Amino acid sequence: MKFIFFGCLLMMSPTLLALPLATESYLKKPKLVVVLVIDQFRGELLNKMQKELKPAGTAAQPGGFAFLMKNGAWFPHAEYEVSQAMTCVGHAMILSGSYPTLNGISLNQWFDSKAGKRIGCIEDARDGISPRNLFATTVGDEMKTSRSKSKVISVAVKDRSAVLLGGHRADHAIWLNSAGSAWTTSTYYGTPPTWIDAENRRLSASPKKDLLSKNLAASIEGTQSTLRLAAQALTEEKLGRGPDTDLLAISLSNHDILGHALGPESPEMEKLVLAEDVELQRFFGVLQKQMKGWSEVLFVMTADHGIPGTPTKLLPPENGDGQFDALASIRNVNRHLDEAFKVRSKEPWITATFLLNFYLNEKFIQERGLSLAAVESEAKKALAKEPGVIEVFTRQEFLDGKISDNLPGRQFKNSYRPDRNGHLQIVLRPFMVAKSELTANHMTGWAYDRYVPLFLMGNSISPGIYAGGKIVDIAPTVSFLLGTVPPSMSEGRVLSETFKSVKPSK
Ligand SMILES: [Zn+2]
Repeated sequence: MKFIFFGCLLMMSPTLLALPLATESYLKKPKLVVVLVIDQFRGELLNKMQKELKPAGTAAQPGGFAFLMKNGAWFPHAEYEVSQAMTCVGHAMILSGSYPTLNGISLNQWFDSKAGKRIGCIEDARDGISPRNLFATTVGDEMKTSRSKSKVISVAVKDRSAVLLGGHRADHAIWLNSAGSAWTTSTYYGTPPTWIDAENRRLSASPKKDLLSKNLAASIEGTQSTLRLAAQALTEEKLGRGPDTDLLAISLSNHDILGHALGPESPEMEKLVLAEDVELQRFFGVLQKQMKGWSEVLFVMTADHGIPGTPTKLLPPENGDGQFDALASIRNVNRHLDEAFKVRSKEPWITATFLLNFYLNEKFIQERGLSLAAVESEAKKALAKEPGVIEVFTRQEFLDGKISDNLPGRQFKNSYRPDRNGHLQIVLRPFMVAKSELTANHMTGWAYDRYVPLFLMGNSISPGIYAGGKIVDIAPTVSFLLGTVPPSMSEGRVLSETFKSVKPSK
């Protein structure tokens, strides 16, 4: 009997097994939360490279990644449960704790049929760039609502990463301008802080002679500049030294930009990880000094998505180079719809396609008195025949709740926005990607794209290796430890299995 009972306990969820967090630790709130995101960081990278990383070091002299690996709660396979893992989607989920279907950020860009053009996920008619397209609040927003003196600052080479991590109420969200020549912000955030001036002077004075690229956004220099700026924000804004908890969010975009250009298996990418290790160590040093130790810091590290390995070796021959040619598919869909609806017209049935979404020409369909759902259903038949396509979802199926309960179906239900995604969205077989000039691309819900590492390190956190963990769990866990209201659309769970529990009484 005892064995049976023990077996049942093992099968229980980690939440049920967790012991309570010590009241003393809970009441002693962190003074500073640092959230570090590495753009396109595969779940297995730190395992693969652990021997080459700097030693973990000590609290007084911390190492880089190994310091986190030793002192943090480490989820090697934290999961994005979305159809398409990409920058906007990931960065919106991390600090809102919600899926795209609720928070609105379902793609990096979508087609606005009224404007007849693509809209970037943070594009805004009023301020150029703002978080207005994000419907959810973030951890930082709730911190500022609850504690009037909390400061929220975000820094990233990519504007979308800085904006979505910063949320609606960030004091400053700072990114690199499109020319890659200076750090900047938008009118949404008001006047840029003077502490970006020194880094901007440094950028304009130093010729870009990085080994990997002449472009700052695609070089190790970009990572160095981002973390230097984050350190500047830390000291100049006296983060963590004020009366209320502050938040500093950083995203290292260069990893993604280089990974796309060179592929994740290139030696340059390993070199980049080692450079990140050095820069992280330097940043930890600044952080430790400013905070006079680690007891008041809650440090979170994760990634917005992964990346597949070399595709051509992993695909059957009929899928050729693994590139899905959307434009060729559109021609086939147009031909199929012409025949199915007996319509001959030069105007196309599909007005736009990108990121595996297809937008139908609604005006054209209405003018011919056809039902949009019927056209979607015919277009689905044609798309399903295209090489590499293993699933096609339509808007009407989503609205009718007729999405299958397999992995792609569940991911689609978490991800799809009828007002932003296409009328049709396809799922390609693993290792196939939309045709492009890039050496490697993500944008899928397959394992290599959706699993990323997650670290939580802080006074209330018990170091060790943890299984499971979802990206939507980060925000509710941080809010819980801060004692603030979770973000408005937060739907993850508190990762209470990582908490240092009360000592059992003797
Ligand atoms: Zn990317």
